[in-house]
Amino acid sequence: MIDVEKIRRQFPILERKVSGRQLVYLDNTATSQAPLSVVEEIGRIYRGHRANVHRGVHTLSQEMTALQEKSRDKVREFINAQSIEEIIFTRGTTESINLVAASFGQRFREGDEIILTVMEHHANIVPWQLLRERTRIKLKVVEINEKGEIDLEQYEALFSEKTVLASFCHVSNVLGTVNPVKEMIATAHRHGVPALVDGAQASPHIKIDVRDLDCDFYVFSSHKMYGPSGVGILYGKRELLESMPPWQGGGEMIAKVTFNHTDFADLPFKFEAGTPDYIGIAAFSKAIDFINETGLGNIERHELELARFAEEGLRNIDGIRIYGEAKDKGPVISFLLAGVHPYDLGLLLDKQGVEVRTGHHCAMPLMDRLGIPGTVRASFAVYNTLDEAKRLISAVETAASILK
Ligand code: PMP
Repeated sequence: MIDVEKIRRQFPILERKVSGRQLVYLDNTATSQAPLSVVEEIGRIYRGHRANVHRGVHTLSQEMTALQEKSRDKVREFINAQSIEEIIFTRGTTESINLVAASFGQRFREGDEIILTVMEHHANIVPWQLLRERTRIKLKVVEINEKGEIDLEQYEALFSEKTVLASFCHVSNVLGTVNPVKEMIATAHRHGVPALVDGAQASPHIKIDVRDLDCDFYVFSSHKMYGPSGVGILYGKRELLESMPPWQGGGEMIAKVTFNHTDFADLPFKFEAGTPDYIGIAAFSKAIDFINETGLGNIERHELELARFAEEGLRNIDGIRIYGEAKDKGPVISFLLAGVHPYDLGLLLDKQGVEVRTGHHCAMPLMDRLGIPGTVRASFAVYNTLDEAKRLISAVETAASILK
């Protein structure tokens, strides 16, 4: 059990008002709020430790480097990776996937095939399209059923001699579907194909064990996990990362440079050119502490209870249609009100202090597949309350009575 009121006291932003009403923040899928421990850690580092990492012999640089590397080990432990060499810091999930496309993608040849799913975020579509322009690879897309679940038979049928990668989300940011990624990874491996998992929507809610999953790459973002923005993670199996060329050149990623030749640094630094967001990275460790102390099991149970309650309440409103009815579903509700554009509904909710996301959610191919321009999306975090779920329902009722 969790004490939500105690948790909320760690998130002062939740006390603010929007449109004269107490804020109800339900856009956690886009970015969750950060607890005081994260905010204060950023301030503490700015006040007392800020210096560039891995550069100086001086005390501040040594301290800052230690803070950053402590965070790397915390991330390693959080996802049960074998070694810190497998944890690459990036700017976010998007950059992590671009890194894999730019580096691992160099071995792909014309006609090679990548398997994606129709529910992917643009971050797991566009980098492969950019690669396709350079190397003429092919993209194959797995369909979903009416509930928003992946068609596993079709998925398996898409593998061929030419398949070089399967890349799919763990949890859909629109439908909330929790994909059977362990099974999907095993299928890929049976065909001798590596698998990349976009865990942006899973890492805040579900225990990730990359060794148990046996994924080849796993990517996620700090800002969706109560951590600072501008920090992402690429986990990759060591032997794969070792076999991959650097994707950006610059300081930090080298061992020796002459004008004729450069020897690259060892992992993980080979993939971390330039000055990273070392303060964000260091403060991310406090977000992981927050999640560990609260307990992922407790977090998931609480969020799902709220989401199921809100979904039930919304279903009772005339004209509401819910998108995403998977058996295994995260704390995300995408919905539409018949005859009402999602933006109009979103604006009326904002006027009542309820912050939800509207639009295509960076998943336009999925919107096309569903035959809609977008949805309204409410998503829950551990600090949300039953009262807030009720506020969502009544705000939608009020909006419906105005718009109809
Ligand atoms: N993949 C999924 C499933 C997401 O939900 C998001 C964020 N909405 C991303 C990728 C991109 O994450 P970021 O913007 O942090 O790079």
